[in-house]
Amino acid sequence: AIDPNFERTREQVDEEDGVAVWGPVEPPEKLGIHGTHVAVDFDICLADGACLEDCPVDVFEWVDTPGHPESEIKAHPTYEDQCIDCMLCVDVCPVDAIDVDPS
Ligand code: SF4
Repeated sequence: AIDPNFERTREQVDEEDGVAVWGPVEPPEKLGIHGTHVAVDFDICLADGACLEDCPVDVFEWVDTPGHPESEIKAHPTYEDQCIDCMLCVDVCPVDAIDVDPS
């Protein structure tokens, strides 16, 4: 499961579409955690898709991650600033790859 303390245990190494990336990142096998308010551990995500289907405000979109051992697409929290903290994505993710910090 995603480490809910990632903001303390990891360092922000990048930003993609305004969304923070928390390392370590060594593509294509290691992609880190993407997002802060809505955080997705790309190294756990297996592209189940329940978060994309269930999020009422469409926070997520697919991004291509060719060569990653778990899946070659990932749910990127591109619109994490729209999140209404319903926690559905956290509940439906089969591998607990998502952490949402209600603000
Ligand atoms: Fe979307 Fe709810 Fe998850 Fe926020 S907590 S990203 S609104 S499903």
